[in-house]
Amino acid sequence: MSSEKAKNHPLFAVPEKEPARDDAPLFDGTAQATEEPSACPRCYGSGMEVVPGKGARRCLCKDLNPGAKFLERARIPRRYDACALNNYYPAQGNGSQLRAFNFAFRLVQKYPIVDRGLLFMGTVGVGKTHLSVAILRGLLEKGVPCLFYEFGSLLKEIQDSYNPISKTSELGVLAPVYQAEVLVLDELGASKPTDWVRETMMNIIGMRYNEKKLTIFTTNYLDARRAPTDETLEDRVGVRLRSRLYEMCKTVQLDGEDYRRRLDAQQI
Ligand code: ADP
Repeated sequence: MSSEKAKNHPLFAVPEKEPARDDAPLFDGTAQATEEPSACPRCYGSGMEVVPGKGARRCLCKDLNPGAKFLERARIPRRYDACALNNYYPAQGNGSQLRAFNFAFRLVQKYPIVDRGLLFMGTVGVGKTHLSVAILRGLLEKGVPCLFYEFGSLLKEIQDSYNPISKTSELGVLAPVYQAEVLVLDELGASKPTDWVRETMMNIIGMRYNEKKLTIFTTNYLDARRAPTDETLEDRVGVRLRSRLYEMCKTVQLDGEDYRRRLDAQQI
């Protein structure tokens, strides 16, 4: 089928914008690419191949393309499906967001020659999760197996898999978290810091710390109190864990208003 026909096929799906290129210059907040990437001629990018008279089946390209296979296994939530470096727009005049973007961009560009992960710190809606997913996407495109977990869901899965007889949790949940080459742990410190939560966080992060595994964190808690009643990241995760995080990650603080407010101002 010609590429023109393929584009008119009802299942043809392409990203809205071209993915970030390795040789792209550092982001200056303006340029957006327009060229369309090519899609698989069997499934036109849908992942499902139509077999005439029989139905549909998983397309071969899903198995042949390690990036696509890894993308599926990375567990990126649907809400963040489209997050990439080339659709992150730092707010005008916001140096902290531009700086955060540049750290994300450089990590993808330099990987695997990267010693430390990133700890994106900032209030709600400044783009911490967006940038973390964008890093995963960039690395997945390089064929690096990655994993995304929102910390609260991970703790819930561990709790749900707890076996009261063996008094252990399923290794099936924890093994991928320990082993992932690159892991995003979103919303660090969001769960109520009970003894169990602190101990479990320490086990998971301590294991990755010992193995020098690259981890990217996001947190809504800051290091400094802005008001006397504010809790800091250290209050939420404990001194020992905060100390390890300094060594595992570069701390990158983002400021600004909630991006969702900008979205709210748009037409429905
Ligand atoms: P945070 O993790 O800091 O709370 P998110 O990354 O979840 O914020 O951002 C909330 C929503 O706003 C997401 O849909 C995200 O894609 C979008 N968003 C946030 N900041 C930006 C930005 N600078 N450019 C484009 N989209 C953004």
